[in-house]
Amino acid sequence: MIITKNVERQFSDAMRTIARRGDLKAYVEQTPTIYQILQRAAAKYVTGEDRQDGLEAGRKLADKGYAISLEYIGENTTDIQDCEHATLELTLLIHALAECGIPARVSFDLSHIGLSIDDELAYKNLTVMAALARQADVELFVSMEESTKTDAILSIYSRASVAYANIGITLQSHLNRTAQDLNDLGRIPRRIRIVKGAYQEPEQQAIPRSSALNERYIQLIEQAVRKGHRLSIATHDESIINEVMKRGWIHNPGVEFELLYGIRPDLCSQLKKAGYPVRIYLTYGREWYLYLCHRIAEYPPNVFQAIIDMMDAGTADPVHNYE
Ligand code: FAD
Repeated sequence: MIITKNVERQFSDAMRTIARRGDLKAYVEQTPTIYQILQRAAAKYVTGEDRQDGLEAGRKLADKGYAISLEYIGENTTDIQDCEHATLELTLLIHALAECGIPARVSFDLSHIGLSIDDELAYKNLTVMAALARQADVELFVSMEESTKTDAILSIYSRASVAYANIGITLQSHLNRTAQDLNDLGRIPRRIRIVKGAYQEPEQQAIPRSSALNERYIQLIEQAVRKGHRLSIATHDESIINEVMKRGWIHNPGVEFELLYGIRPDLCSQLKKAGYPVRIYLTYGREWYLYLCHRIAEYPPNVFQAIIDMMDAGTADPVHNYE
């Protein structure tokens, strides 16, 4: 069978559906053999289960000259105790980063710390973390989730950012609403991360991977740069990265490239060697199932590597691939 773009797109959609199947996730988590095998594939993108794993990999990358982001993975948490546990874990991460002196950013989903239960719970937990992070001189970054949550996420972020300028927000260029959302953030300089968007969305609300999406991404960067926002250009797409370098935006204060741990370390090394600011986004935790599915959905050839990794008990450290 010839693998056409259409088959690739169907595969990606299927992987995103698998990512959302709570029953499959539960089966994986409750079946030790499957869990361990799939975890080997996840190790390419997730540093490990514990905070210490994230910190160690982060320290090594920081020593090599990269800025880092760290995420304790999790989302759509519907149990209040689990939300409090996630908030506690993130505060411990903030403390640990301050203690070991790694200048880092802590990223998270609001639905991990309360949004799936109540907006006020997410707001409360966000502001508790923001106060602590401000003292520790750590930056917080709110991730963007499915479009059904965009209004709530932007509203909670906007409220919290009035008092806490150390919080940044992620915007998804694939959503049709994003130029307006960026505009609505006003003229105060903020910390903004622009991504393409990882979730499957209704076609009336978003556009798929295409040159039109890349053009829109560039327009959003331009819009953000004009407003003087500090900007993380979070993509592995070389055509966007090249355009940003060509237009000189990467030399603006606070503008950087940000790439996911384990993806295109060659490109990260090349950008860093050329003197550009590069941040690596690392993750840790047990909730890697959805994260792994998304990384395969975004780039279907990753399924080959995932199967090779599943059958290889070796522990290759992805940090070595960064120069
Ligand atoms: P694509 O068009 O998907 O890929 C362009 C090229 O990059 C591909 O052809 C391939 O060469 C390479 N590539 C892309 N993905 C992979 C991969 N998995 N493995 C190997 N090569 C790959 N999404 C959200 O919805 N919400 C968020 O809050 C969010 N936060 C993010 C934070 C960071 C720092 C980054 C980098 C991404 C984040 N994402 C988030 C994911 C993002 O939306 C995209 O799904 C992801 O970055 C892949 O898109 P791309 O821009 O690289 O472009």
